[in-house]
Amino acid sequence: MKRLLLIYTGGTIGMKANAATGALHPVDFSEIEREVPELKKFNVALDTITFDPVIDSSNIEPLQWAELGSIIENNYDAYDGFVVLHGTDTMSYTASALSFMISGLQKPIVFTGSQLPIGVLRTDGRENLISSIEVAAAGVVNEVTIFFQNMLLRANRTTKYNSEYFNAFRSDNYPPLAVAGINIDYNLNNILRPNKMSRFEVAKEFSTDVASLKIFPGLSPKFVEAVLSIEGLRGVVLETFGAGNAPTQKWFVDALRGAIERGVVVLNVTQCAAGSVDMSLYETGRELLDIGVVSGGDITFESAITKMMHLAAQKDINYDRLKERIKQPIRGEITV
Ligand code: ASP
Repeated sequence: MKRLLLIYTGGTIGMKANAATGALHPVDFSEIEREVPELKKFNVALDTITFDPVIDSSNIEPLQWAELGSIIENNYDAYDGFVVLHGTDTMSYTASALSFMISGLQKPIVFTGSQLPIGVLRTDGRENLISSIEVAAAGVVNEVTIFFQNMLLRANRTTKYNSEYFNAFRSDNYPPLAVAGINIDYNLNNILRPNKMSRFEVAKEFSTDVASLKIFPGLSPKFVEAVLSIEGLRGVVLETFGAGNAPTQKWFVDALRGAIERGVVVLNVTQCAAGSVDMSLYETGRELLDIGVVSGGDITFESAITKMMHLAAQKDINYDRLKERIKQPIRGEITV
């Protein structure tokens, strides 16, 4: 019999409405078990660890990523797979962070949650939870993934794009790893093959000396300077237009050049939901390339920022190494 560990961090899936205000607040896991008696019918041995306190995912920080990493590290040998219940709001960030933290992963880690609390009649939480357990027990996809509605997606390719409908997550630049219908159909060609030689390790440090700079028409020099002059800044995710384009005004290019010369790695990520950065296409992109901005290719914002936080926290990583490593795919997060 397969053994799975279910880690409950919080999120709508386990929330209940406050009788007085109507606002949702987290409840403990026993309530979830009561609502999904099917959990007992599974032919898997399921243990549970609950975060204390359980949290709305908007309050998640690198501290909780490290806690999740430690739980998985301490229980890695005892279980065949892991299911993480997490709020949808920041699920793509946590799951991307976890994908970078863990090297040598040879077991499934499946994140899921729901748009409606599990106690509500039309909840999507029951299906999501049951299918995630099935996927984790199958052991076909030994990656960090998100299962939602009927899709299993590579976590570091996902974005929460819908705050209302059940298909909350999308992976526009990478196909689903599995689709659940009558059967769960695995897309075997798109699954990462674990490197059997690589040791299982969890890097729990994250640097918060990173920032993001989302450009828009009418961007002010004051705003750009404020971001780029943050003391101790190591990296910036620059959210650009289209295929990686940005204004060519001298003040803007000079501000970026100045930051790069001070040792800040600037990673170019497109504001478009799908497609890739190609700075060689237009003059407005070339300028960035010339001053040393790095292309993020088709990486998501969630993946870019957590990867930057992960890499910048590594021991002895200097500007050149950070610049080099941020471009290279670590866990299938960029198409090469
Ligand atoms: N606010 C909730 C959370 O992210 C939303 C959800 O779970 O869907 O924790």
